[in-house]
Amino acid sequence: MRRAMSPTSEKIAFQAETRELLQLVIHSLYKHREIFLRELVSNASDALDKLRFESLTRAELLEGDERLRIRLEADPEARVLRVIDNGIGMSREEVIENIGTIARSGTRGFVDALKASEGKADDSGTPDLSNLPDLIGQFGVGFYSAFMAADEVVLETRRAGTSAGTRWSSRGEGDYTIEDAEDLPRGTTVTLHLREPEADAEDAADFTREWTLREVVKRYSDFVAYPIEMDVEREEGEGDEKEKVIRTEVLNSQRPLWTRPKDDIEAEEHAEFYKHLAHDWTEPLETIHFKAEGTLEFNALLYVPRARPLDLFDPSRTGSRLHLYVRRVFIMADCEELLPPWLRFLRGVVDSSDLPLNVSRETLQENRQVRQIRKSLTRKTLDALRGMLDGRREDYGTFWTAFGPVLKEGLYVDDEHREELAKLLLAHSTAGDEPCTLDEYVERMPVKQKEIYVLPATDKAAAERSPHLEAFRAKGFEVLFLTDPVDEFVLQRLTEFESRPIRSIDKGEVDLDDGEDDEDRTEREEELKPLLELVRKELAEEVEEVRLSTRLTDSPAVLVSKASSFSPQVERMLRESGQPIPEQKRTLELNPGHPLIERLRDLAAENEIFDRFGDYCALLHGQALIAEGSPLPDPARFAKLVTELMVQRPGTEA
Ligand code: ADP
Ligand code: MG
Repeated sequence: MRRAMSPTSEKIAFQAETRELLQLVIHSLYKHREIFLRELVSNASDALDKLRFESLTRAELLEGDERLRIRLEADPEARVLRVIDNGIGMSREEVIENIGTIARSGTRGFVDALKASEGKADDSGTPDLSNLPDLIGQFGVGFYSAFMAADEVVLETRRAGTSAGTRWSSRGEGDYTIEDAEDLPRGTTVTLHLREPEADAEDAADFTREWTLREVVKRYSDFVAYPIEMDVEREEGEGDEKEKVIRTEVLNSQRPLWTRPKDDIEAEEHAEFYKHLAHDWTEPLETIHFKAEGTLEFNALLYVPRARPLDLFDPSRTGSRLHLYVRRVFIMADCEELLPPWLRFLRGVVDSSDLPLNVSRETLQENRQVRQIRKSLTRKTLDALRGMLDGRREDYGTFWTAFGPVLKEGLYVDDEHREELAKLLLAHSTAGDEPCTLDEYVERMPVKQKEIYVLPATDKAAAERSPHLEAFRAKGFEVLFLTDPVDEFVLQRLTEFESRPIRSIDKGEVDLDDGEDDEDRTEREEELKPLLELVRKELAEEVEEVRLSTRLTDSPAVLVSKASSFSPQVERMLRESGQPIPEQKRTLELNPGHPLIERLRDLAAENEIFDRFGDYCALLHGQALIAEGSPLPDPARFAKLVTELMVQRPGTEA
């Protein structure tokens, strides 16, 4: 909804989502109110990066003003703080697009996530907003954080190379006003009309005071590559000569973290840099910092986040999230070529000494140096993960929970690193509560076990209930649970580990007999042949084959897929996602030792087949489906048959 006020002035209502977001930001009692400054400085720094990059090919954009900087101006009396940059600026359309709406994907998710945490109100009805900082960080709703500190925000901006300026202002309520503005300097000025500090607030910080601003800049923005300047009043001179003078001071050291010697950097500094870079609130789980020298020179500073960002599996997010610098000049964000897609969870920067400043996304793909950088980053990351697995198992577990499924994509697509990635796998198994590695599994294998056994399942609890496990448990063979949908794709490529075949125990034939009772078995098979034949006929529509099982000890029957096919869970998932997966008939295996099978055999042996044999077979099949967690083809019929059976008096069925 737009309403014209003067020829250039419009009042525009915020989108519903933006409004909701603003309300949440403003009304949450915010523990770290000061981060608004980090957000505004980070936007200013981005705008300076953009100008610096664009001016490489269009020098006129600098308009003779080449000293790129950020300024803070505070007026304690008026309770006003300004954050000023002489960066790229925005056109009117860009202001509406970038500031007036939340167009970015994931925003809906942000509002939902906020509401979810709001839903978790305590007894007094106070919403639990302790997650808010994480959420703000993850979704980069940075600019709106200004409303945590200000009750009115004015943004004035002029895009480099143009003359028309724009003024945007809002009180963070229902709408904002946008109008043309004359004679603006290049770049953006954000003016905050600060709220009164609440007397009882935990942080009654006054953001017009020099030392408060100094502290906040030092804490969050020290490494920003441009000077953050402020005019300060100082007393100078001796005795009677003393006078007050205004000096411009630079509040940040501006030394990019990655150019400093590794050992000089405090964990705290890494944490702040990572948060700035990743728009995250938590500290990184692992820091990988190194300098390559020799034929190829570059600095790399990579971070493994602690938690999974919400867009990790968005189809649009397949490339790397590393920023590329060339000799400390920012070149581009999210430079795809720097990492394989299965390491896309890393955040960080690469600063190359060799690449030309005018590289573009197109030429990067062909660039030999970039390929070498990628190789070296992959190597270092795998080493770091290996180190974490060996030395910090708990942290590695955190990593694996967040990013294991992404790493597994590498097992599928990357022949070169498959073996190494296999060693980084963690999976739960029948042997306890803690997930284990393949190496640990192999170490525990009894001598007579020749294969690595795995069971795909929707989750650990479902795997533990599976009838497929029975005989393996009885024999003391450990089985690994594979509970990510991606696992079954991985298994198509990862067919062995350290020359031991990897075998899905729900597929193909499993022979767990150790040859001791071969004779017994042949006898059994002879004896049960007529039954198998009859069941086969009854279930011809449903299953491909009926045979005796060596997998079962307690259950009467189980369904088995072909060695080459997907498990029923994954088949269902693929079909639901619209893939044309043909219906695969499976094999029904019967447990020759189960009383139910013996009873069926007796019934079948009586010359005349009793009426209900078909129903019994349908029940047997239905039960096997239920046991593996698959839906029944005709639940109503199943229920009816069970009821009828329960109503019958024992011994009257024939
Ligand atoms: P993010 O920085 O994560 O994109 P923000 O809410 O902080 O999210 O900013 C939204 C957008 O507004 C930025 O992406 C940028 O396009 C624009 N913007 C914000 N501040 C500035 C500024 N000082 N100069 C130029 N553009 C800006
Ligand atoms: Mg921002």
